[in-house]
Amino acid sequence: MILDLKSLFDLVGESQEIACDLDFSNESLYGNAPFQQPVRVAGKIENRAGVVKLVFSVKSVLSLQCDRCLKVVERELDKSFEHILVTELSNEDDEEYEYIVCADGTLDLTELVRTDLMLELPTKVLCKEDCRGLCPKCGKDLNLGSCDCKTKDIDPRWQALSDLFS
Ligand SMILES: [Zn+2]
Ligand SMILES: [Zn+2]
Repeated sequence: MILDLKSLFDLVGESQEIACDLDFSNESLYGNAPFQQPVRVAGKIENRAGVVKLVFSVKSVLSLQCDRCLKVVERELDKSFEHILVTELSNEDDEEYEYIVCADGTLDLTELVRTDLMLELPTKVLCKEDCRGLCPKCGKDLNLGSCDCKTKDIDPRWQALSDLFS
């Protein structure tokens, strides 16, 4: 979604509301598609004393994979972001804000939201704190019960071999 902000950059006091649903269902992360549901974006762009500020919130339900058992779990997403929009960078030393450059007075809102969201996705996801994960041998979900792998004794012939090399 491309927003034309030329008049907003020109007119002090001008503002524009944003309310839209963005579709990121094709975005993938580590082989998963976290944005199965639309991302609701609500916010405002305002020119205050010549400074154009974008403030918005995103709401959605993320589909994320548990790191241990690989089950897909849903997590509510509710985050706010703000950016200062400029048509060109004038003072690169000022890094208090991350400036978004709208070179021709337009802003690709979809791309901006996409970048913000990707940085906000949790790096560690567990379906529950004490998820037991999958058995590394047989792949059984150990939350559903234990498997036979652990209880089996190591073959004595292999044991003799491992003794030899230790
Ligand atoms: Zn799990
Ligand atoms: Zn097993």
